Amino acid sequence: KNAKKYYPVTAGFFKRKVGDIKAVDDINLELFKGETFGLVGESGCGKSTLGKLILRLINPTSGNIIFNGNDITTFTGSKLRAVRRDLQMVFQDPIASLNSKMMVGHIVDEPIRNFAKENHKNLKDETQSLLVRVGLRKEDYYKYPHEFSGGQRQRIGIARALALHPKLIIADEPVSALDVSIQAQVLNLLKELQQDFNLTYLFIAHDLSVVKHMSDRIGVMYLGHIVEIAQKTDIYKEPLHPYTKSLISAIPNPDPFEKKERIILQGDVPNPQNPPSGCVFHTRCPVAMPICQEVKPIFKEVKPYRRVACHLYE
Ligand code: SF4
Ligand code: MG
Repeated sequence: KNAKKYYPVTAGFFKRKVGDIKAVDDINLELFKGETFGLVGESGCGKSTLGKLILRLINPTSGNIIFNGNDITTFTGSKLRAVRRDLQMVFQDPIASLNSKMMVGHIVDEPIRNFAKENHKNLKDETQSLLVRVGLRKEDYYKYPHEFSGGQRQRIGIARALALHPKLIIADEPVSALDVSIQAQVLNLLKELQQDFNLTYLFIAHDLSVVKHMSDRIGVMYLGHIVEIAQKTDIYKEPLHPYTKSLISAIPNPDPFEKKERIILQGDVPNPQNPPSGCVFHTRCPVAMPICQEVKPIFKEVKPYRRVACHLYE
């Protein structure tokens, strides 16, 4: 709720504060139990920062993180540990996120050993069946991360995230480091697991094609702001925000007879330390109007279940 994350920027010998990088700027986002919410935007737009805020891996500059009706923003110590069990992350880079010196079995059951040892008498059996559940073998328990392919390593990361039976998993570009042929397998696995484990997913991606098959709803982020949220079918059929339109137009079209115009944006993403006035997208928006430079558009419901921040819809 109204979540902001500003990173201070310092300069010079005395590290004087010269400004803020507004990584996440006043975001209101609600996730519903059991859904997959696809969060899309160019790299650097604040998607990962928002994910880490929700998981309480970093603290917001202001605003609140509400989980299961509890404001967890100020939780510390044992209270924070308790909610952390329900909130897990699957990372983009399965190599960097797994400890290469640890046996796979111990990587996967580490969260249990840290959080809930007492309730798991048959930890090894449990861990081995979890490995089997994500498409690995029981014997893989004794191996080390370097003995696996990228896709298998991501399966290890997924098993680890599942170990404590969390409620919410934030998957931060979980397949973008993998070969295209492997991506679909991992996505299908995540889908199956969602059913079995009653999971809610926040699925982060940098383009709209990966989240298309996964998501129930989609949110589009630009420069620290969410500019549009909609049901999946609506957003692909009829994107409303000009930035969403450009992202949709970039998805390769499998049907060569259906003419589709590619919208190419001019210019680069502005520096988040000095974001544009008014609508943050106005410097690149193909349909910007004079008001867009002056007034920040309100993020509001323009149709049932659809929210957009754009003066075209006010
Ligand atoms: Fe474009 Fe203006 Fe809408 Fe921003 S508010 S997206 S600049 S039309
Ligand atoms: Mg990122």
